[in-house]
Amino acid sequence: MTIEQLKQDVRNVPDFPKKGIQFKDITTIIANPEELRFMREELANAYRNKGITKVVGIESRGFILAPALAMEIGAGFVPIRKHNKLPAETIEVSYEKEYGLDTIQIHKDALSPDDVVLIHDDILATGGSMLAAVELVRKLGVKKIYANCLIELIGLNGKEFLAKNGIEAECLMGIEVDE
Ligand code: AMP
Repeated sequence: MTIEQLKQDVRNVPDFPKKGIQFKDITTIIANPEELRFMREELANAYRNKGITKVVGIESRGFILAPALAMEIGAGFVPIRKHNKLPAETIEVSYEKEYGLDTIQIHKDALSPDDVVLIHDDILATGGSMLAAVELVRKLGVKKIYANCLIELIGLNGKEFLAKNGIEAECLMGIEVDE
């Protein structure tokens, strides 16, 4: 298994969810057992010796691999969810999306100052979602924050945007946004 093979197997769905968007569909690669295992291992390898205590997944597709990654590196899993989905006391961050504001939440007691956190999402596009997740986690005063994604959409400068905000994001593969 290679990253190149994986890249080739990500399905591009043109004009979803609306005209002009090239949707990168990961259901094709998570359905393949070898590719699923490969992704878990490759994502985990970069973080095995960093003392990570919690992997935070961003709803929705960040929930697919984050728990597998957490188990692989011996960490717990914490969800960041959309507004009004978490049952206990939460804190939140709102950020600009394409159409208006979006709000994400995390349980207030989900992380503590001793935690070393890895935030995971499936795709890094503009970086807006990842930055909002980082801001949310920062509010809980954790020791250190890492960020990773399966796919970086090249051409949208998400990594540069995050770097300007003090976050080094790592992605398993880069795919041209219009590829
Ligand atoms: P952004 O906040 O712009 O970095 O967008 C990242 C979020 O939107 C991720 O949670 C992705 O799942 C989703 N996303 C953005 N662009 C795409 C795309 N072309 N294909 C699939 N998902 C996308």
